[in-house]
Amino acid sequence: MTMTEIAQTIDAAFSAQRDTVASRRQSFGLAERRAALARLGRAIRQNETALIAALATDFGKPEAEVILTEIVPVMQEIRHTSRHLRRWMRARRVLPTLATLGTSARVRPEARGVCLIIAPWNYPFSLAIGPLVSALAAGNSAIIKPSEMAPATSAFIARLISEIFPPDLVTVIEGAVDTSTELLAQPFDHIFFTGSPKVGKIVMGAAAKTLASVTLELGGKSPTIIGPDADLNAAARWIAFGKFANAGQTCIAPDHVFVHHAVKNDFLTALRDRIAGSYGTGPTSPHLARIVNADHATRLAGLLRDAVAKGARVLLEGGQKDREMGPTLIESITPEMEIDHEEIFGPILPIMTYDNLDTVIDRINGRPKPLALYIFSKQRSQVDRIIAAISSGGVGVNLTVAQFVHPNLPFGGVNTSGIGMAHGHYGFRAFSHERAILSNHFSALPLIFPPYTPKVNRLVALIKRILG
Ligand code: NAD
Repeated sequence: MTMTEIAQTIDAAFSAQRDTVASRRQSFGLAERRAALARLGRAIRQNETALIAALATDFGKPEAEVILTEIVPVMQEIRHTSRHLRRWMRARRVLPTLATLGTSARVRPEARGVCLIIAPWNYPFSLAIGPLVSALAAGNSAIIKPSEMAPATSAFIARLISEIFPPDLVTVIEGAVDTSTELLAQPFDHIFFTGSPKVGKIVMGAAAKTLASVTLELGGKSPTIIGPDADLNAAARWIAFGKFANAGQTCIAPDHVFVHHAVKNDFLTALRDRIAGSYGTGPTSPHLARIVNADHATRLAGLLRDAVAKGARVLLEGGQKDREMGPTLIESITPEMEIDHEEIFGPILPIMTYDNLDTVIDRINGRPKPLALYIFSKQRSQVDRIIAAISSGGVGVNLTVAQFVHPNLPFGGVNTSGIGMAHGHYGFRAFSHERAILSNHFSALPLIFPPYTPKVNRLVALIKRILG
């Protein structure tokens, strides 16, 4: 398509949804929203095989990983949302204060209107459809822009959605940066973006032009701290899973590890064993996803080359064969190395040793706030100390990545790792405008309206004494 054709398609798709906002306000109630979610859930079930095939085509994701990380989280989101939606949608009464005696007040969650969902490639299905569940639950229409870097999954999403929803409720516009840029020029009511901090800034800049509200689910370097008292086998199990699932291409994967020097060797032994047990040796395990494309494979090879050239030591050679890359462990990282600053987003795990926890805390606090922070320790006071000292989007204690699938927890970053929250009730609220409604029954406030006679002034003075 030419740019003019892309612009025309986007204009038409946006107008179709905009034109139905007013009627949707009145007709898209609890029953209709639940029906839409049920339709979505049924369609996913019926098309599971095609989805697994699409993700295998895009980056060789093992079937079990597709089920665990793409299908189950979305189905759980649908179930959890449908179950609680009645309560979430209800207007919430709030108590009057002295100044507002004689009134009644409520907060009514309302649809924002027409929403844009821009998805990344690493979990290309769940990170496009998960937010859609929240958008529909909150009564919105949505345009989804899947990632062009997972083309088979993008085409799958476009087909699935066109088969179950009218375009004035949900439509998919496939495309790359040009398409995304063109979409961002439309006056959406809310933009839900998942992707890199760099593009997050572009999205927020575009949203500023129309004052669209935003949810930005971004990334960064998520650190892992292993205390001297940690259960090292458990730490190795969780870190290997969190880091090497999806070949490390996970926003909340442990990016690097700080291990106490007293347990470094034992931890490394446990981690090596775990990697060998899960993935064997070399880069070609069927249990490992591929790197998404040649550019990213080259980027990862470059990060490793740069680190080694500047003095890093390879502790476990994973090997690389085109887009296949095995779990790789390195140490002796210094700030001159690119890998010390760039989100790794691949199966390379730097291991750093520490003696004094304060140096680790200072180091992490000197960098952009991470999306996730992982702590392995049996000592509650140590865990609490680290949580209090370091800001991050979320925290995992004696586990990794599982915080993503807890439906009652908010999922989101802080500053550079994100703005706003997703999942469950938090996702519903992200796509809702919480509207304040104050109704007068017998408010005494008109007694102080002008003209400001001596009597009114006495009342104002009284109010000041009580409330001021
Ligand atoms: P990305 O930012 O490159 O792309 C995300 C989306 O933005 C894609 O749909 C892409 O087409 C679009 N896009 C790219 N450049 C654009 C531009 N200049 N203008 C407008 N749109 C543009 O991210 P990615 O490479 O797809 O995903 C990896 C990043 O996403 C990592 O940083 C990762 O940590 C983060 N991530 C975060 C979460 C989360 O939930 N917080 C989840 C997954 C990934």
